[in-house]
Amino acid sequence: MPDDALTTSGHQDWLRRADELVPRLPTRHRVAGADADGSGDAFPVVAPRDGRTLALVADAGEKEVGLAVTAARRAFDTGPWPRLSPADRGRTLLRIAALVEEHRSELALAVTLENGKPITESYGIELRALANTFRWYGQLADKLTDESPHTSPDALALVTREPSGVVGAVVPWNFPLTLAAWKVAPALAAGCTVVLKPSELTPLSALLLARLADEAELPPGVLNVVAGDGPTAGRALGRHPDVDVLAFTGSTAVGRHFLRYAADSNLKRVWLELGGKSPNIVLPDAPDLAAAAATAAWGVFFNQGEMCTAPSRLLVHASVAEEVTAAVVERARTLRVGDPLDPASEMGALAGAARVTAVREHVRGGRESGARLRIGGSPRDVVPGGAYFDPTVFDRVDPASALAREEIFGPVLAVLAFDTLDEAVALANATEYGLAAGLWTADLSTAHTVARRLRAGTVWVNCYEEGDLTVPFGGYKQSGHGRDKSAHALEKYTELKTTWIQL
Ligand code: NAD
Repeated sequence: MPDDALTTSGHQDWLRRADELVPRLPTRHRVAGADADGSGDAFPVVAPRDGRTLALVADAGEKEVGLAVTAARRAFDTGPWPRLSPADRGRTLLRIAALVEEHRSELALAVTLENGKPITESYGIELRALANTFRWYGQLADKLTDESPHTSPDALALVTREPSGVVGAVVPWNFPLTLAAWKVAPALAAGCTVVLKPSELTPLSALLLARLADEAELPPGVLNVVAGDGPTAGRALGRHPDVDVLAFTGSTAVGRHFLRYAADSNLKRVWLELGGKSPNIVLPDAPDLAAAAATAAWGVFFNQGEMCTAPSRLLVHASVAEEVTAAVVERARTLRVGDPLDPASEMGALAGAARVTAVREHVRGGRESGARLRIGGSPRDVVPGGAYFDPTVFDRVDPASALAREEIFGPVLAVLAFDTLDEAVALANATEYGLAAGLWTADLSTAHTVARRLRAGTVWVNCYEEGDLTVPFGGYKQSGHGRDKSAHALEKYTELKTTWIQL
């Protein structure tokens, strides 16, 4: 039965629920449908909201990753999963979706505790995306068709898609469950088996999900979850000769590592969803400048700014620059930064003390570059021991400065003014990234022509961060390649086979 904890629980309820959940959090890997140990010391998972250690989790080294890959290999080579009818695979994914909904508050709480995002967002956004993703691919599983091209009259050609094999999925901490689901659900729907490595900052929710997948009667070894750090566990997965596909979401720097791991091992297919520094262009003819400003503020502060798609560069026409910037600053002033377990909080904690240090460094660099700090710029005391930061806005930003070019992955907005449309497009594209872009205009032709000129995987017009499972998501340039979401995601987890039959 779906739970409705969000509508019935206040701050005190969530604090109590957290105290109840913490001792029950999983601390072991999940391999072949059973709990598994690590071989080294367990590592602490720390709550960014107050610095408390939530759990000591078994650390996966090369050996544990190897055992998980062996389980996935066996489940693929000899297990039932790739040989089940797509409808049966789909039904299993639907059962996972139903169990996710049943355990919604527990999973949301685990995400908020390990990541620091507001419980309203874990519950309302992350958990909805998780259930929807499993449901969408579960429903899609038996709707796919292969091709039989019209070829020469004395032959029959078939172009079929087959599951690629064992998928290694390595994901970050900012949406620990959504991003895992964007890999795992299409890979499972395609008939692959998976070893998932969540971020070492946020392994708890993924370990809970693995247990629900087993409860949904996913055959043993089809989904394995190992917890461990990147340079050891992530690398072991990236270099493993029995992993056929490596699907990665994370930073561009680590994406490069995965390409090297593949080159140095078995040339596994590597799919990369990487960082961004997305432009959000406001033209003076925007249908509603107040809405453009409110959305710009929402976009850059949502999830504490820890968004690959964050509209972190606001490019605004000089004639309306002050009006829009002032509205964004005002929103930053009123945003409720609070305990993530308080449903009234609009912004929670950054993912940990190291993130606060990194964001503070970017702010220092921004000041030194001559940009004008309009608001924020400092860590904030909210809950003792927690990792909170002010919503921060700079304007008069030098396009050549790090503030305008580097991904900050925190609640920091860089505002740049422009005079002409060409200048706006040039500024928007002056980045090594190409994940997303926003555009605000009432003119239909401008909307289409500028959208075409923007080198980004997603362009939002008169909105930001909109979309559902029907549309693909991914990047141009150094934001990666390959697409999550939609039927296109299946391309990552399938091989095309040509069968040519001479008649
Ligand atoms: P990260 O690259 O540091 O880590 C991501 C994952 O890679 C983690 O599981 C980590 O343990 C692992 N890892 C780290 N170093 C590794 C190594 N040397 N070898 C193998 N694995 C390694 O990223 P993060 O800090 O967790 O997340 C933030 C980054 O993720 C940002 O750059 C953000 O833009 C990006 N991101 C992209 C998308 C997208 O869909 N394009 C979505 C969310 C986040």
